Amino acid sequence: MDIKLEQLKVLFSEDEIKMQVKNLALKLNDFYKGEDVVAICVLKGAVIFATDLVRELEMPIQMEFIRLSSYGSDIHTSGKVNAVDIKLPDLNDKNVLIIEDIVDTGLTAKFLIDFINMNFHVKSFKFCSLLDKKITRRVDIEPDYYCFEVDDKFVVGYGLDYDGYYRNLKYIGYKDV
Ligand code: 5GP
Repeated sequence: MDIKLEQLKVLFSEDEIKMQVKNLALKLNDFYKGEDVVAICVLKGAVIFATDLVRELEMPIQMEFIRLSSYGSDIHTSGKVNAVDIKLPDLNDKNVLIIEDIVDTGLTAKFLIDFINMNFHVKSFKFCSLLDKKITRRVDIEPDYYCFEVDDKFVVGYGLDYDGYYRNLKYIGYKDV
């Protein structure tokens, strides 16, 4: 598939995204009640969402970045999660908040949850995702929080790419066919 900018239709506008990110931050501020949190941003897709979200959070935050990949340059997942860079500090006894762009098959989320559980005894663990594509799920995993549910469309923008492009779009769009 080829995606051209002029073919994109807005699925979620900049304003809708801002509102949902603020709503999510309210829930997280309420849940953590000022406790220290280690926020782990899953690169590259979650970078824009994570940087907007953490600036709405009121508790002390340490940010970590890991890089996983399951997509090639195409729009289909390889079905195999590749830990490109998963160096993390000691997370024992920490409140850990994973920040992801989208949960699709759920394989990446499962990989991460298993990885954290195998290596650390955390104080609390929450998984938040900008988008939840429930319809394509292959494993029994649900994010604790998400901003929008999407159906089986390949979406781009606000961090999500097609072949490396479109991460900088302020909206989330899809190709109109
Ligand atoms: P999962 O392991 O849940 O199948 O997929 C996770 C990763 O696949 C996401 O972090 C994201 O990078 C990529 N992905 C899944 N669906 C989409 C989509 O609709 N658009 C884009 N750009 N990436 C997607």
